Amino acid sequence: MKVQLVALSLVLVGSCSTLRHTEKIKQLKNNIAFDDAKTVQTYLNTITESELKAHVYAFSSDEFQGRKVGEPGHHKASQFLKDYYLSENIASPLGSKYYQHIPESFFSEGIKNSQNVIAYIKGNQYPDEVVIISAHSDHEGYTDNTIYNGADDNGSGTAAVLEMAQAFKKATLEGHPPKRSIVFLHLTGEEVNLTGSRYYTKYPVFSMKNTVANLNIDMIGRVDEAHTNNENYIYVIGADRLSTELHYISEMANAEFTNLELDYKLNSDSDPNRYYYRSDHYNFAQKGVPVIFYFNGEHEDYHEPTDTAEKINYPLLEKRTKLIFATAWYLVNSDKRIEVDVDAI
Ligand SMILES: [Zn+2]
Repeated sequence: MKVQLVALSLVLVGSCSTLRHTEKIKQLKNNIAFDDAKTVQTYLNTITESELKAHVYAFSSDEFQGRKVGEPGHHKASQFLKDYYLSENIASPLGSKYYQHIPESFFSEGIKNSQNVIAYIKGNQYPDEVVIISAHSDHEGYTDNTIYNGADDNGSGTAAVLEMAQAFKKATLEGHPPKRSIVFLHLTGEEVNLTGSRYYTKYPVFSMKNTVANLNIDMIGRVDEAHTNNENYIYVIGADRLSTELHYISEMANAEFTNLELDYKLNSDSDPNRYYYRSDHYNFAQKGVPVIFYFNGEHEDYHEPTDTAEKINYPLLEKRTKLIFATAWYLVNSDKRIEVDVDAI
């Protein structure tokens, strides 16, 4: 992992530079503060397990037939997302269509055209700078008699995005618009080689250069085997790889508002699962955009038809969503855009 490597090499060159590094980190941490904590709390309180539950049940229902990319069930799910944003009066940077169409030719053979769904709230000070909250909308589809509902994968992440969008909208209407623009991005084709994010990062609606960070959510409603006795956790992956500042902002948001155990085990480059490379955030990271991937780890229903809505831990989903909301709030409202580490790319 980057930070450890840097620290080690500094030890080798001498204590002066080690001191400088320690001092720099201390300064970085001291500069991160939620001056508007009360306001953040007000809108965190609008994120509720009951609303998240309603979203997960709706999005993972049989109506969408397992949301297989390019198939009628996924198109219907995309329409569901668009209708939600219309009903919440949240605009799209693409105007009235909300869809970023991806042609069949961009997919591997046998997969039909599909779409990312994009909504946003425009920043009032730095509208060209964007923070993207993403979650993939597709899943495994169905076989003859079995629908893969994908409640955790990724009904949970989708519900979190919808609930955060509503909270940011309410804040905007009540006089607290974001300084930067915040984008709600529902990516298609994650289950087929991260195609939706590959397309978005190749044909971005906002330039990659102006994309401050990507917070990507893929499965945050369950508890894995390693945490059966301590479910108050979330795996945080990638936060420190491109921006040390982003890592500390995430830690500060958690300390201030949620007190989850941020588990970095899966962020280790030596982790054999290599999750950092396995969901949509990676396409953003490859373009130099700092990312955080939020994940609950695998469980017995992962990619099984038994990944259903009644198995989601809704109080925990609420808490994890609040962590992401607080982090996003900081990223869009800080006076200074977060920095990418000079030695990161
Ligand atoms: Zn997934």
